[in-house]
Amino acid sequence: MLNDELRELYQDVILDHQRCPRNFGALPDATHRAEGFNPLCGDRILLSLEFDGERIRRVMFTGAGCAISTASASLLTDALVGNTLEEAQELSRRFRALVTGQTPSPTDSAKDLPALDKLRPLAGVRQFPVRVKCATLPWHTLESAINGQAEAPVSTE
Ligand code: ZN
Repeated sequence: MLNDELRELYQDVILDHQRCPRNFGALPDATHRAEGFNPLCGDRILLSLEFDGERIRRVMFTGAGCAISTASASLLTDALVGNTLEEAQELSRRFRALVTGQTPSPTDSAKDLPALDKLRPLAGVRQFPVRVKCATLPWHTLESAINGQAEAPVSTE
């Protein structure tokens, strides 16, 4: 269980990212982009990525959504910079495990993933199942952008 102090700190981080989203905007030179939609809440996000060789150079997002989806998208853009495609996918998998409350598999602890720490403020959404889709929407959208199957907006449903 999170203690109250930690919970407050995490709420501050989420509110801060909601009020002042990082990397909000479009990338004119995006190499990957995708659109995501969460019909349960009405969250929409357009994610664009720019690679520098193997590594992600920049990630930006636009869209409109609730506090959780906006904060999650903002945290995602911060966490992903400098990661390789493989690391980004691993991060996505681990983040979804974090917010759905899955216990990590034994191999997870063996692998160091510092970027995951930046996303921990969102771990509290696991107590609110409806909010889990808001938190994971940017990550679903990321996978769609990476896999390049962005013909239609990806939906959480
Ligand atoms: Zn939402």
